[in-house]
Amino acid sequence: MGEKTKLAVSPAIQAGGSLFTPEQLAKIGAVAGADAKIEMTSFKQLYIEVLLDQQDAIKEELERSRLEVYPAGFATKSLIACNFCKGVEEAGLETARVLNQAIAGIETPTPLKIGYAGCALGTSEPLLKDIGVVKMRDTFDIYVGGEAKGLKAALGQLLISGLTREGLVSAVTKIIDIYKEQAKGKEKFSKFVDRITIEKLKRIAA
Ligand code: SF4
Repeated sequence: MGEKTKLAVSPAIQAGGSLFTPEQLAKIGAVAGADAKIEMTSFKQLYIEVLLDQQDAIKEELERSRLEVYPAGFATKSLIACNFCKGVEEAGLETARVLNQAIAGIETPTPLKIGYAGCALGTSEPLLKDIGVVKMRDTFDIYVGGEAKGLKAALGQLLISGLTREGLVSAVTKIIDIYKEQAKGKEKFSKFVDRITIEKLKRIAA
């Protein structure tokens, strides 16, 4: 048996949430093989164990089925978005897709979760993510440093409000870049935010 690796697989960002079609699930089962381990993660990605030397071919085959395939482990996860129940326009589906394209699958010092909510009800729990985006009428707010795990769980702090779509994508990208550049080893993102300070991060992301 050859060396194995994991691929992170998710459906497209869409109205209705993380929906797989029966064909997509059948495809995942077929490419993974009868003995594969397929894990449902807490961040809306399926982790599929595949043979290392087959990963490129499997990735292409999954993408042909309109699935998105990203690295597993120490990388930004695909955007953890809400169900867009207020409608694709009002909840900002297109912006969420653009943001996901810009930020998913980037190698980072620790796995990074980025959440998106299409309104202030925040049913996708963006304030519990490392970076959380909330659409407020026609603009977007960014929260940072949310921590869902452990006894010191904490809500993200408001970093910037009133951003346009372009401003949002640019700011989140800059936050990820600075984390990559200045994290100390495998420093957790919430600790990094505390060390760098909200004020400095705000200046960098602006
Ligand atoms: S965050 Fe708002 S728009 Fe998104 S699913 Fe929840 S209630 Fe609906």
